[in-house]
Amino acid sequence: MARYTDPVCRLCRREGMKLFLKGTKCFSDKCPIEKRNFAPGQHGKDRKAKIVGYGLQLREKQKTKRIYFTQEGQFRNYFEKAARTRGVTGEMLLQQLERRLDNVVYRLGFGTSRRQARQLVRHGHVHVDGRKVNIPSYEVNVGEEIMIRESSRKLPILEQAKEFASHQNLPNWLEIDRDNYKGRVLALPKREDIQLPVNEQLIVELYSK
Ligand code: SF4
Repeated sequence: MARYTDPVCRLCRREGMKLFLKGTKCFSDKCPIEKRNFAPGQHGKDRKAKIVGYGLQLREKQKTKRIYFTQEGQFRNYFEKAARTRGVTGEMLLQQLERRLDNVVYRLGFGTSRRQARQLVRHGHVHVDGRKVNIPSYEVNVGEEIMIRESSRKLPILEQAKEFASHQNLPNWLEIDRDNYKGRVLALPKREDIQLPVNEQLIVELYSK
């Protein structure tokens, strides 16, 4: 699968807002958005046209895709599954993205960014209900316990994440036992639990053309 390998801060600059892709750096004055809040590239500064219609829908989709670090095909699959699920399609789309294991590890505060959380999953540091799961897109279910493997708990990134998480809010649909490096899914996330600057209706309109 194609992987994005350019500096991720360019993605924030392209969307003109902080997408919080780099953990602690995003909260520091080293964040490029603080100094260069214009699109990357030679003509980035000159692009000032107001985006409307299709362009707006496209940007909303790109932004959401980038926040969760998903590829185009995978994102489209999420949409199609959401469209088949009972409920409001846009909300179902966000719910599926939130249920990704890498996102849940991030939300529980075991990683300072979704990328770091994904690495923890990929490298086999995360167990779900006592079993190793190294698939970042694994969809968590209500009642499942997400735990950091005992032998991995001394990792420096977990210490760093612990400090970072103490300043973050835990969503209502998750519970955490920080001392024992484990959390649980209490419910499926509702729209009001997902604090994202995203208008999911625009994504639905884009894919429904
Ligand atoms: Fe985006 Fe974080 Fe980079 Fe700032 S530091 S541009 S918020 S990824």
